[in-house]
Amino acid sequence: MTAAAVMPLHELPELVVGDLALVIAPPSDRTTIEITVERDASLILRAPLDTTIERATQFVIDKRRWVYRKLAEKDALTGPPITKQFVEGEGFAYLGRSYRLTLTDQVADVGLERGRFHMNPSQVDQGAAAMRRWYITTGTQWLQKRIRPWEARMGEDTIDVAVRDLGYRWGSARPSEGPQYINVHWAALQLPPSLIDYILVHELAHLHETNHTPEFWATVARLMPAYDTQRTTLATIGKNIWLGSV
Ligand SMILES: [Zn+2]
Repeated sequence: MTAAAVMPLHELPELVVGDLALVIAPPSDRTTIEITVERDASLILRAPLDTTIERATQFVIDKRRWVYRKLAEKDALTGPPITKQFVEGEGFAYLGRSYRLTLTDQVADVGLERGRFHMNPSQVDQGAAAMRRWYITTGTQWLQKRIRPWEARMGEDTIDVAVRDLGYRWGSARPSEGPQYINVHWAALQLPPSLIDYILVHELAHLHETNHTPEFWATVARLMPAYDTQRTTLATIGKNIWLGSV
């Protein structure tokens, strides 16, 4: 057993188990461990004061299936993992269209040109990381432009978009006093632009309201009256999106 395993859980702000990140609630006089899935799909772990990190980690592992099921009920991004191989002809999506992969040393890393993804053969061993870098770089530029009309409609100043791996969430945003920003999962760049718009609108609304309250949905509806169609489509298409598994 490592020293970290017997460390008290409550010294951590957050416990990460696989792709699940749980916020640790302040200790109370409770005697059992409990996970709650909040309305915005964030996870809270409540545990007795003497709980170790190892014990809490095992608890999360045992409860994982239940957590994924709860997340699926809350628009989160879950489903059987889609895997990819980094071989000639494999398909990768960008903005709702599929492109075949060509391995070529004409590119240093990864590029999308003339209707095909190109990858340097030296990247194949870390193909998922190389693709992820491409989605993050290309997607950041695309989203910075794409969000402009939406932030204008919200009456907001410039809002930064950060593209990153968000595990099981399409996007995240919190109301804040300082500069406003929203996070979008790199995998979302595989979706058609209309669905990415829904993710942007959803997160813009979260800058004002953390939870999925009626006021929250009213804000979403004001920006995107037909949002419910996009939301349903996202739940269906989202299951077939590649999240980086190989
Ligand atoms: Zn939300």
